[in-house]
Amino acid sequence: MTNLSSHQLMNIHSIYPATEGEGVHLGMPQVFVRFQGCAVGCVNCDSMETWDFHAGQKFLANEILTKIISYGVSRISITGGDPLHPKHVPAVLELIRAIRASGNFFINIEAAGTRVVKEVFDLVDYISYDYKTPSTQVKTSVDLLISMVLAYPEKYQIKSVIQDRKDFDDVVSAREKVVQQIPNHSLNWVLTPAYGTNENFPRERFIAIQDWNYSSGGHFRFIGQQHKWIYGPKEMLV
Ligand code: SF4
Repeated sequence: MTNLSSHQLMNIHSIYPATEGEGVHLGMPQVFVRFQGCAVGCVNCDSMETWDFHAGQKFLANEILTKIISYGVSRISITGGDPLHPKHVPAVLELIRAIRASGNFFINIEAAGTRVVKEVFDLVDYISYDYKTPSTQVKTSVDLLISMVLAYPEKYQIKSVIQDRKDFDDVVSAREKVVQQIPNHSLNWVLTPAYGTNENFPRERFIAIQDWNYSSGGHFRFIGQQHKWIYGPKEMLV
């Protein structure tokens, strides 16, 4: 097993294999490692059970690694909660180094869009970076977003959950600000229609967002959350 320089306990919500249900890696089998603890506070969060930093289970990096290897899948998504919260970053770095030392894995990090954590981003294969829309009541700094795009042009997607027209218009406006500052970048920006845990499948919302995307120039990739269609919006660990 891997030689670790430190052996810190990591606060984990869950570790499970599942087919990626959203974003540009839709359909790829992955192992999800969800850190327990998030202070971002999106009002429409669909995994509030990951917020409490005192909940979860404690694991060492090599215990997580053993679980990952047992699933026989070479893609890993480190998510949460908020794996980039300063309380988690030392553990996330240790885990990534342990994974790297153990074999050839593709590692994605789910970033809440509130921080660019260079030491983590440098080590992973892919960054899924949220641009938070008004319906979340959390703000993503456009300047921070630009710094991420400029530093990691080959390995990122921006993801935005769209609840309504206000969210869509906000994303269009944020994109225009980014394009003004870095006009030569072709942005990899995904719109995810909101699908709340207490909703029936919001077909009208899906269609409306596709139409808005067309009529505003078609700059965004439109991808729903496949796992919610398959299992229903409340199902966890899928
Ligand atoms: S960052 Fe993720 S886990 Fe945290 S509140 Fe927002 S949606 Fe929920």
